Amino acid sequence: MQVRNKMIEFKSECPNCESQNFSFEASTVNRSNVANGRLSGHDIEPVMILGCLDCSETVKVFPASEIAEFLNQKVLKNSKV
Ligand SMILES: [Zn+2]
Repeated sequence: MQVRNKMIEFKSECPNCESQNFSFEASTVNRSNVANGRLSGHDIEPVMILGCLDCSETVKVFPASEIAEFLNQKVLKNSKV
């Protein structure tokens, strides 16, 4: 089964152990060819990693921009400013 909404999509069961016990973790990745230690800020991309809490399998890695766009639609759409 897939979990879907307008912006993010992922399998609802861990591909390794079929658990549904997931958690997000914030991290960064180097998307450039620059060696670690010579990186500057624009070489690093923030990501949100969806991982299985039972076996530590990485279920999916989302660019932080996708999560931000999702939150903008879900949270700001419902806010009454
Ligand atoms: Zn698992």
